[in-house]
Amino acid sequence: MPKLEFFDAWTSVGRTLGMHPRLPHSVDDLIGEMRRCHVANALVCRCGQDPQDLSAANRALSRLLPDFLSPLWTVIPGDAGDFPCGDQLLGDLENHRVPAVRILPKTHLWNPCGAAARSLFESLAEGGWPVFVPLDCEVSAAEFHELATALPNVRWVAVHGSWTRQREVADLILRHPNVWMTLEKYHANRGLEHLIRQGAGDRLLFSSGAPSASMGAAKAYVDWADADAATRAAVAGGNLRGLLKFQPAGKLAGFLEPDEIVADAMAGQPLSCEVIDFHSHILDDGANSGGNQVMLRGDADGLLDMADRIGIDRLGVMTWVGIQGPDQDGGHVPVIAASRAAHGRFWGLATIHVGDQSDTRKIQDLEAVMAQGNILGLKPYPTLGLPYDHPQYAALWRFAEQHGLYAGIHPFHWYQPDEFISLCTRYPKLKVVAYHAGCTYEIADTIITLCRDFPNLYAEINYSSVTGGIIEYLVEGCGEDRVLFGTDQPMRDPRQQLGWVVYADLPVAIKKKILAENARALLDELAASSEKVPAMI
Ligand SMILES: [Zn+2]
Repeated sequence: MPKLEFFDAWTSVGRTLGMHPRLPHSVDDLIGEMRRCHVANALVCRCGQDPQDLSAANRALSRLLPDFLSPLWTVIPGDAGDFPCGDQLLGDLENHRVPAVRILPKTHLWNPCGAAARSLFESLAEGGWPVFVPLDCEVSAAEFHELATALPNVRWVAVHGSWTRQREVADLILRHPNVWMTLEKYHANRGLEHLIRQGAGDRLLFSSGAPSASMGAAKAYVDWADADAATRAAVAGGNLRGLLKFQPAGKLAGFLEPDEIVADAMAGQPLSCEVIDFHSHILDDGANSGGNQVMLRGDADGLLDMADRIGIDRLGVMTWVGIQGPDQDGGHVPVIAASRAAHGRFWGLATIHVGDQSDTRKIQDLEAVMAQGNILGLKPYPTLGLPYDHPQYAALWRFAEQHGLYAGIHPFHWYQPDEFISLCTRYPKLKVVAYHAGCTYEIADTIITLCRDFPNLYAEINYSSVTGGIIEYLVEGCGEDRVLFGTDQPMRDPRQQLGWVVYADLPVAIKKKILAENARALLDELAASSEKVPAMI
């Protein structure tokens, strides 16, 4: 397979007020990511420049960047007299070889659908500059539709199109041939392939949000894309190059030698090392969504098909229906069926609705699920209505501790430590897995402190923030034996979550621990402690 030439369409450098001191933010941080991920070029905008004069901030950004990084200037209408307009603006952009611009109408307090905006956009279209538009935070989907319809000559780039709003995003990109889209937040399960099949493959742009987000996470979505070579090359960089007013003057030299895990990913091959996904959901056979969330091919066959593509060997699966609605038993149907399948690649977690059921009934329900399937853990959820240290949960935790089931915890009180302290203290033999540990540095700090206090706590990483450098931070803080790989697929596509670990700045031996060895050791220990819980095959 020919090597892809990657050009990142959305990166951002600079500090913001109140940011965590360990969050990567500098040009050097960005270049480090590019070297590890073999990305030759990037478009760069700057955060934290909001209070400055915009023209001065734009020129400062240009001065900051080496020739393989291209500045994404921020523009505003000039009617108020504080920013150039018309030919003067185009001349400035030309002189600084600015390849594209972005707009931040909410931040800068102007109306993107007004007359002054229209004049700005018409000038940019005439001059050949594409306009990057952060969706939602700066321009609503309704406004964006209006702009794309009213100004068909403008080449619009929708930024931050979110996987959580696939129906709106698909509507935008598939209805407007003058709209391109960056992918840094589009962690939609098989969403990339769907949009390509619908004809948008020439308008999708690889992008990462690095260095505050992992460039490797974004890259893995394209590394493992189920698309022909020409389309993959276009998404990796060709589409962006075709869109820009000016090409960068150089390319980054000095890529790092890929380790064996990175080499597999870069070749689009399934990882040859063992991989265990500690956090997966599962839909009923044939289902493509879970109500508000699109999850294409989110059933057992779909999960296995994707697992084979990227190299996931085993998956711990939990219900979607049973955590989002009242149907406890129906939610367990695909969990039980998958965990009984002869290939042995799934194990299940049980979700028992606590409500006001008696302790006897809860345990009966749990034992009934365990009798039918290979159930190794409990998965409560905030939607069930009670914090996990509530007395209504106590019988379940006692049972789990006695019989070697682990607890997979998405906190009821989002990362306030008390719930974990209560569980880990009262049930010292219960293995507690904290989900979404990689969400933010602030959450990681909480989990790191807890891991130091409680040897029965583990950190499972998954989150679509794919926070830059945080896998390394968790390893440093929790210890290399306490960090677990998980994906939350098919709600999130698993490829970004896997790429986050694959491209982390860690030795191969530690990557292997996160990807599988820690999970295997944890499950083996539980199986050895219990007659009720079977060993993983
Ligand atoms: Zn989940």
